[in-house]
Amino acid sequence: MENNKYKLTADYHTHTIYSKNNHGKGTIRQNVEQAIRLGIKEIYITDHGPGHPLYGISRKKLPQIRTEIDKLKEEYKDKINIVLGVEANIVDYNGKYDIRDEDLKYFDKINLGYHSGVWFKNIKSFFIYHILNRIAKYNKKIKDYCIKVNTDAVIKIIKEKNINLITHPGDKVKVDILRLARVCEEYDVIMEINNHHTHLNVQEIKEAMKTGVKFSVGSDAHKPEDVGVVDRAIQRIEEANLDIDRVINLEHR
Ligand SMILES: [Zn+2]
Ligand SMILES: [Zn+2]
Repeated sequence: MENNKYKLTADYHTHTIYSKNNHGKGTIRQNVEQAIRLGIKEIYITDHGPGHPLYGISRKKLPQIRTEIDKLKEEYKDKINIVLGVEANIVDYNGKYDIRDEDLKYFDKINLGYHSGVWFKNIKSFFIYHILNRIAKYNKKIKDYCIKVNTDAVIKIIKEKNINLITHPGDKVKVDILRLARVCEEYDVIMEINNHHTHLNVQEIKEAMKTGVKFSVGSDAHKPEDVGVVDRAIQRIEEANLDIDRVINLEHR
């Protein structure tokens, strides 16, 4: 990472060709080798969860991906720690994600986020996500309702599953950042300042800072050359005056 002040120690959010339909451009090896070139000590491979019909990882490929990761882990064990994660999707407003119990053995870590285009599990959830959230800006009651249920769904998953990190909180649909941050703090879940998307934004970082929650920066790279690129996220951190010691994968140089 070309930043004179801070050093990125880990990238917890990168995509590969296993995010299908050409959504992710590079191989796992290419992401790993790029991270090594940049001196990053840990990389997570986090393709989209299988509930996303366009970009989601194919369940059938999970054993192959696990084997590929384990081989690279061995090959590069002196240089970098490689972690197989996933960017799971929230798939309904009762608090479900798109990871089945039998998938869990393949993943070391589960990141979680809202994504458009997922198969919502029931009509009501589809309606809230796609219709109510769209019209929320025109009506305060609808807006308040959407923020409440968007937040409730994430919190329910955090409480019931083993979630590592919330990707781009506030992107796609609005959430109550302060309430989410309190729960993330309690359950030791990281809140991501995403470089590829604009959330957490400066205002949201300031909200979350009122709690003791931990933050990370994530490249959300969809091609190898973007691995470790977090300059826009750092800009927001500085604007929000967030203490860099609270960002778990940044160090002072
Ligand atoms: Zn995402
Ligand atoms: Zn992503």
